[in-house]
Amino acid sequence: MNQTSDNLREKARSVQSVTGPVDHTSLGVTDAHNHIWIDAIPGADPSAPVLNEYQKIVSELKAYRSAGGNSLLDCQPGGCGRDGRKLAALSIDSGVTIIASTGFHRRKYYPPDHWLFTASENRVADYLLTELRDSLKECRAEKEPVRAGFIKVALEGEWNQTPQAALEAAAGAAAETGALIEIHTEKGTLAEKVLIYFEDHHIPPWQLCLCHMDKRPDFGLHSEIAKYGALLEYDTFFRPKYKPEEGVWPLISQMVESGFGTSIALATDMAEKEMYETIGNGPGLASLPRDIRARLEEKQIAEKIIRGLLGENIARRLAGNL
Ligand SMILES: [Zn+2]
Repeated sequence: MNQTSDNLREKARSVQSVTGPVDHTSLGVTDAHNHIWIDAIPGADPSAPVLNEYQKIVSELKAYRSAGGNSLLDCQPGGCGRDGRKLAALSIDSGVTIIASTGFHRRKYYPPDHWLFTASENRVADYLLTELRDSLKECRAEKEPVRAGFIKVALEGEWNQTPQAALEAAAGAAAETGALIEIHTEKGTLAEKVLIYFEDHHIPPWQLCLCHMDKRPDFGLHSEIAKYGALLEYDTFFRPKYKPEEGVWPLISQMVESGFGTSIALATDMAEKEMYETIGNGPGLASLPRDIRARLEEKQIAEKIIRGLLGENIARRLAGNL
């Protein structure tokens, strides 16, 4: 083992869940990108999803747990519907480990005058660092701190529409804390550009997770990204629009067969309540440990690789542990 990996291993941290630090090896089956609470935001785009039926969400999380799910990353950052108090209560009431995000989503999910999109880099960086180290903004008066466990950023379809000061701040906060950055891409657009951007900001590839990449199921691109060292998140399993039988499923087979099984994290990204089983009769959160796992087994993918796809790959990176 060389000096660099020794240093990295020493730096391996615990993962910051909404109820406190947990060892990454205890996360188990982990949905790498989901949404379990979204308040209505006055003034936001009418298409902005809302998830606020507490008891049904608790039942949904319990079903996730009964099916073998253990943890999930909540990808709704502050200001566009996150409520850390609800996330903590949902975690306690369901037994599911929840990891909250700081950062920013697409602009259309916020009120038109939200501070984050005109703030200086320093102000946004302070906000991100405080949420990672001390407490989420809405939880500062709580007895128990609720911290963010990763940084979410959202790219718009065009680079210059993405808030540059906020992106700079995210790079700075990631460099300072070692936190994982989950990057929303518009159907995989700008994936190459954002990797170069963070490389120029000295963020190592293992700190980067590119989301929704199976909406651009280009094996050549995915294998290059995997070789570079960034994580690819896939979540179109229950979105017929993206033809999962022609897109994500063959892509998983090809990536695994090519030895990139440790570079992928699976998720169901159920921001729309129609996707929830308890609220909208959809596939539900339990579909990841139940249906997706069954399909991976059917494909005769090795158990070790399945465990990576369903949690260990994202868990290690959340902990800064290669
Ligand atoms: Zn999402």
